[in-house]
Amino acid sequence: MEFKPFEEKIWLSSPTMHGEEIEYVNEAYTTNWMSTVGKNINNVEAMIAEKVGCKHSVALASGTAALHLCVKLAGEKLYGIPKAGEGALRGHKVFCSDVTFSATVNPICYEGGEPVFIDTEYDTWNMDPAALEKAFEIYPDVRLVVLVHLYGVPGKIDEIKAICAKHNALLIEDAAESFGASYKGVQTGKFGDYSAISFNGNKIITGSSGGMFLTESLADAEKVRKWSTQSREAASWYQHEEIGYNYRMSNVIAGVVRGQIPYLEEHISQKKAIFERYKEGFKDLPVKMNPFDVENSEPNYWLSCIIIDKEAMCRQVRSDSEALYISEDGKSCPTEILEAISALNAEGRPVWKPMHSQPIFRRNDFITALGSGRAKTNAYIDGNFSDVGTDIFERGLCLPSDNKMTPEQQDVIIAVIRNCFGK
Ligand SMILES: *Cc1c(COP(=O)(O)O)cnc(C)c1O
Repeated sequence: MEFKPFEEKIWLSSPTMHGEEIEYVNEAYTTNWMSTVGKNINNVEAMIAEKVGCKHSVALASGTAALHLCVKLAGEKLYGIPKAGEGALRGHKVFCSDVTFSATVNPICYEGGEPVFIDTEYDTWNMDPAALEKAFEIYPDVRLVVLVHLYGVPGKIDEIKAICAKHNALLIEDAAESFGASYKGVQTGKFGDYSAISFNGNKIITGSSGGMFLTESLADAEKVRKWSTQSREAASWYQHEEIGYNYRMSNVIAGVVRGQIPYLEEHISQKKAIFERYKEGFKDLPVKMNPFDVENSEPNYWLSCIIIDKEAMCRQVRSDSEALYISEDGKSCPTEILEAISALNAEGRPVWKPMHSQPIFRRNDFITALGSGRAKTNAYIDGNFSDVGTDIFERGLCLPSDNKMTPEQQDVIIAVIRNCFGK
């Protein structure tokens, strides 16, 4: 079947503006608060804290900056204040989600920590509590866990929190992709000792960039605020007792975020409609949507993804620069579907490549529910991958999920994907 490409590209997830954003940006301009202080920042901090239901928030330059200060804070709590030039984690191991964006992991390394990756479960595509428990058996001294809620779907929070409590470990929540999602009626970003959200251009709401640090502790919020503005002490000159960062959010960026916040729920319902439409369109195909805990979770549906049933996978091989597949009747693979989506002038994406198979982390340990996954990583055992993350990476992909995509455009994308399976 021939499909005509869209004239304008359909993105995976692009910024959706509404008009108020530019008014708050203008206000910053006309009042000359063109800096890292001002009304927009104060407002955004208060509005986000209220939405998440946590006591304190600090607006920062990015989600990555927020995660960095989460990790630094946790490191100082656990291991004391480092000397200048020393990381707060100083060689200590940290348990971390395996299938995620590298920004979840990198901050552990900024502070000299050693990430140990924890395998994924099939129910929510997040950290597997059984693998986490196994990791504590292998490394009982670890005291810090970094958990991501992938694609806006809350992970197994109760189980993970119980395991952290049992092993006296702190929990950092990377809620960068999941702002607005909730678990048992509580917003993600409220479960961690420290949490981070992101306002990057492709997230559920955006400031073009920006992030937020969240915590229940006033003292910790004040510490992060101080670190983020170069760690200045109260003195008439620039006095420093600690290493500082230039991590504060700009009042201009905060204007964009401020204008977006009232549209969070609208964006979520648009994303949910997109998810439901895909689900309906694929109901007779051998694929499943990215799953969530229907009883306890309300995702923000940031990205719609599919995973192809094992029996319906045609053969594919992928290297960093090339991908090949052998087309088969009634079967398909992420490579074939991504090529078909791209030919339509739309944007799809592979699922995040597991961190344990990233070259930079090749020497870091990786724990599955059965123990260290390193020995058998990427090996096919009886036609199955030996770890869940690699399996999801091999069979899954992210679909165009832009909230400006029309139902008619989405129908074409659905038809193209159906066509890959010969339907
Ligand atoms: C986007 C993202 C981040 C980083 O946020 P930035 O604002 O881009 O720095 C961190 N973790 C995850 C899972 C993300 O998707």
